[in-house]
Amino acid sequence: MISLSFLGSSAGVAPLLSRACTAGLLHIGGQLSLIDCAEGTQRQFLSLRHRIRQRNESNLLATPSGIRRIPLPLPALSSLKSIFITHMHLDHCMGLPVFLTYLLCNTRASSGPLEIFGPPGIRLFIRSILHQTSTNMWTDAKYRVNELLTSSDDVTPCEEDDMHSSELIGRDLFCGTDGLWRQLHATSAFDVSAGPIVHRVPCLGYVFTSHIPSTTQANDSGYSPVPKKIVYLGDTSDPSAIAPLAQGASLLVHEATFLDDVLPRPTGKLKSKSKPSSKAPQNVKPVTDGGKSEGVGDEDILPATPAEPVLPHPSKQTTDGDVPLYHDAIHSPNSGSDKSPPPPDSMRNKAVTMGHSTASMAGAFARRIDARALALTHFSSRYRPWNNFVAKEFERHAMLAWNSEDEDFRGVENVLGRGVVASSNSSGSPGEGFQPQERQVKAVSDFSYVELPEDGPGRWTQL
Ligand SMILES: [Zn+2]
Ligand SMILES: [Zn+2]
Repeated sequence: MISLSFLGSSAGVAPLLSRACTAGLLHIGGQLSLIDCAEGTQRQFLSLRHRIRQRNESNLLATPSGIRRIPLPLPALSSLKSIFITHMHLDHCMGLPVFLTYLLCNTRASSGPLEIFGPPGIRLFIRSILHQTSTNMWTDAKYRVNELLTSSDDVTPCEEDDMHSSELIGRDLFCGTDGLWRQLHATSAFDVSAGPIVHRVPCLGYVFTSHIPSTTQANDSGYSPVPKKIVYLGDTSDPSAIAPLAQGASLLVHEATFLDDVLPRPTGKLKSKSKPSSKAPQNVKPVTDGGKSEGVGDEDILPATPAEPVLPHPSKQTTDGDVPLYHDAIHSPNSGSDKSPPPPDSMRNKAVTMGHSTASMAGAFARRIDARALALTHFSSRYRPWNNFVAKEFERHAMLAWNSEDEDFRGVENVLGRGVVASSNSSGSPGEGFQPQERQVKAVSDFSYVELPEDGPGRWTQL
């Protein structure tokens, strides 16, 4: 059994009303691993347990048909043995000292030390905060911080006088000559490797490869189980260095802080009962970045239907030079007569400058590593209010890039800006040899949950 729960999915240094910052809980073969640990992750973990318990209990109330869903396993603290931090930005590690304390205070020393992995600085970060806050675990349980280093990194010493009373001497893990950390950690259920990815600070992506239990046999239909590979990337504008490890990922978790293009947003009510139209709505006005989108209910947003060309003209900009979040025009899919040149890839440039990706960059990388499924996360707070329409737009951009023959989808504005209409499943235009059932893309929310069965596609649940 392999599953991944998203405990936080927001970019930025602080949680939003609707989203926490980044954390993911990976469940492989009865063992839990936490990937990133933003502020409030402990509370998100407790909330996840509550939601799973509620779901399982509601399942036990027999439906009229008598059909019951299989209960989801309740994540137990005692099963959480390892934490992986991608980088030292606040929205990825600020909850770690708190969650670590909570964990150690609630686990037995006999279950072995908690293993923490992360970039240079993670060891001193934890040690400093625990010292500065006079945190005592009141337990014999221990933790160990293992830093992933390159030859140019300084080692943080583990000397008794400096270490926390609950800290064990950590390992200094230097990358190989190829710049990768192969099999940096192994358990009875999975191996972990890591690679560097481009961000504003040193940043890592982790690759978890499950083991196949030795008792597992091919089933009657001849299906033989294969190891699952979960690739979980930190923030990045270019993850290509980890591609050798990530090839053939069963699930790729890739940030999509921005969209390459912009979304239409009406100012008035456009209920989904309205007939789908290929014409631009008349009551749409531009809203600049950071505009007054708060307080606008989901029902105010243009409903996305398969028949609607949902993308706006890419060249529209606000008069003050800001890149608008929403535009006031929507192109028809046949607007090839428009000879205006595509604008510079402004949102992509913005993303790359900040060390981040757009949804289509994530889709392009999914294509490059031949991933089976793609989870988009780490969304900018500018995409508020979030709703199904916005989520589908992220998914559509990613799938268009995934299905494109363009190696890194550089021609994104030409494709998206021409108002390419989403296919009936919002998945873009399939390329040659495309097998729709083999590719999944999901813009996650907090408490999105995906189960990766031995065979077949991932099963998504919103808890
Ligand atoms: Zn981040
Ligand atoms: Zn970051």
